Amino acid sequence: MITALCGGVGGAKLVLGLYRTLPPHELSVIVNTADDLDYLGLHVSPDLDTVTYTLAGMSPIKQGWGIEGDTYQALENLRRYGAPTWFQVGDRDFATHLFRTDQLRHGANLTETTKRIAESSQVRARILPMTNDGVSTRLQVGDEWVAFQDYFVQRRHRDAVSAIRYDGIEEASSTPEVLDALQNAEIIVLVNSNPALSIVPILSTPGINDLLIAVSAVRVAVSPIVGTDAVSGPAGRLMKLLGHESSAAGVAAAYAGCIDGIVIDEVDANQADEIEALGIAVHCTRTVMNTLEDRDRLATETVSFARSLR
Ligand code: GDP
Repeated sequence: MITALCGGVGGAKLVLGLYRTLPPHELSVIVNTADDLDYLGLHVSPDLDTVTYTLAGMSPIKQGWGIEGDTYQALENLRRYGAPTWFQVGDRDFATHLFRTDQLRHGANLTETTKRIAESSQVRARILPMTNDGVSTRLQVGDEWVAFQDYFVQRRHRDAVSAIRYDGIEEASSTPEVLDALQNAEIIVLVNSNPALSIVPILSTPGINDLLIAVSAVRVAVSPIVGTDAVSGPAGRLMKLLGHESSAAGVAAAYAGCIDGIVIDEVDANQADEIEALGIAVHCTRTVMNTLEDRDRLATETVSFARSLR
């Protein structure tokens, strides 16, 4: 059993590689839900949907989110009504949010609802929200604390951020399914998701961090930072909020205590000594995933590296 911790588009690339190269039912994916939002009364879980659609083969591979060939007629009508439409939701995607919201209203929890959506989409891996409770990332921009999607989608993550918090995290509980996926894993992979926005919220969920420190599984990370910046998005700029530099070594330091090894890009090979001095083993390889083959190769190398650390 292999368990991955993942955010959205960037991390789902490697999760797809794991899914394609492992027996699919041996993979569990614990997904960040601190980006979840209420959009026009609907419960939207962007990272859960990205992982589900990606593993179901429904997402356009280049864009990495949404549903291939989706249409936008509902959004077009909403625009006509003057509703906020900066959050792009396609017609088929709306069905997911409607179904999820209805299930939650009728008493199902997010884990059960996610399972139904994934199974109906023929996904054979276990996709698990990090918690069934509400957690929301907020970022301090000037004097204001802005909601995650306002910062990320509406303002295109251009603002300088001085602090981050995950509202609701202290009262949130991990789920029996998540604890089981960690306890019974042979390998745990902190995939190349944004540390501050995707992985740290998962690690901060009560119960998960303690278990990750104590589990018998080999724990490895894959760095989202290549050279001095993220492959995409604001992860590099946000590393300072975690108290670390924007580098593979900074990512290793941010996860110290929770990982036994890290996969870093070959351009960062000169950081291996610094990382190994933290007691973290290093594997250097090409980590930028453009093609499906890149995803498969990096997934296979990550699993082999983890097995070599046993
Ligand atoms: P996103 O914000 O929805 O894309 O979701 P994630 O938090 O899962 O992933 C974002 C991170 O993925 C960014 O920090 C990127 O640097 C990283 N990323 C994207 N593509 C790649 C890639 O091909 N290789 C590596 N190593 N990291 C990547």
